[in-house]
Amino acid sequence: MTDLLWMPASDGRQGAAGNPNYVRSMDAVVQKALEDWVVLDRTAFYAEGGGQPSDVGKLTWDGGEARVKHVSKKGAVKHELEGDVPPQGARVHGEIDWALRHQHMRMHTAQHIVSGVMWRSRQGRTVGNQLHADRSRIDFEPAKLSPEGLRDLEAEVNRILAADLPVRVYEEDRAVLEARLKADRMSERNLLGLVPQSVRRLRIVEVYDPSEPRTIDVCPCAGTHVARTGEIGLMEIVAREGKGSNRERIEYVLKA
Ligand SMILES: [Zn+2]
Repeated sequence: MTDLLWMPASDGRQGAAGNPNYVRSMDAVVQKALEDWVVLDRTAFYAEGGGQPSDVGKLTWDGGEARVKHVSKKGAVKHELEGDVPPQGARVHGEIDWALRHQHMRMHTAQHIVSGVMWRSRQGRTVGNQLHADRSRIDFEPAKLSPEGLRDLEAEVNRILAADLPVRVYEEDRAVLEARLKADRMSERNLLGLVPQSVRRLRIVEVYDPSEPRTIDVCPCAGTHVARTGEIGLMEIVAREGKGSNRERIEYVLKA
């Protein structure tokens, strides 16, 4: 098993300092090496999943270096390499492409907020999303957005971004989370039924306003997120498209 360095809890209040999502480099030991990939004992690299793309970057070691071109988690966390391949047992240093990763974190956190607002204000459920560094998309059911609705959604999300709210990451027992979501009318936002019943503890990502206090969005997620919403900048919805009679897709970009 690879130790995933971005996974541990953080309360978001201190910003980036000490927040595991901001770990950009690591020293690790090669546990398994094949033709063009390695498994490491620990990694700062995010493996593609949940709509968030893989990190890229580089590995260096005594006598060699390679570009990490993709990281997948099929069976194990595999760092796919271009260049040399370090042997099993080698000590390596990894550096992720931070500009790209931070953009994914901004996009990903924005997606949680859009999904939370869309559910709370319009009962639109998020049924899919795909993040990219420059432009991301979210699919909702049922379709709810008029042109005015789009602008209202955008304005509400941007108020939350500008308020610079903390993003908290923590573990919760499934039963506790289910009861809480039900009380907060957030069960359908989350589709916990899609998570296998064997998973009893979940990693929760919550955007909240400590001054009220009020939860903007709460969702089980294993991705990477910014510590505070102020890092996201402003969100602009650049397209809306109907996908069949009951589904719609929005695309958004971020502005610093
Ligand atoms: Zn997430």
